[in-house]
Amino acid sequence: MDLIILVLMAALIVLLLGIYFRLSSSKTSEEARIRLEELPGTGKHSPCPLCGSLLLPGERVHSVVYPGKGDRLVEIYGCPYCYPPNRAHRRYCPSCKRELEGDELVFARLFESSGKVHVHVNGCRICMRRRT
Ligand SMILES: [Zn+2]
Ligand SMILES: [Zn+2]
Repeated sequence: MDLIILVLMAALIVLLLGIYFRLSSSKTSEEARIRLEELPGTGKHSPCPLCGSLLLPGERVHSVVYPGKGDRLVEIYGCPYCYPPNRAHRRYCPSCKRELEGDELVFARLFESSGKVHVHVNGCRICMRRRT
């Protein structure tokens, strides 16, 4: 009788472990997806690349990632503090340090290398044009 209970317990543990691993693996793929949309370096407690405001968890930098393979173009608009543009939180181009006017945005390049997502900020429309 005791043996049957032991076997049942073991089967239950195996089943629970299976569910646990399935849940945790789906969680990591979900996290990877979110990170792609959120832009690395703009996650927990990291400053906004444009205005430097420290962002709380859940506060996102508004950005648009264009779909595609390999290098992808990213447009960075700003965080909840500096976008829509306002006078309290001025936005600066991270590349040329020029103050952004109106609803100007900053362009970046998103690429994956060794399993991690990297974002390279190219700059605003002025300094992008100057470099090319
Ligand atoms: Zn900002
Ligand atoms: Zn610039």
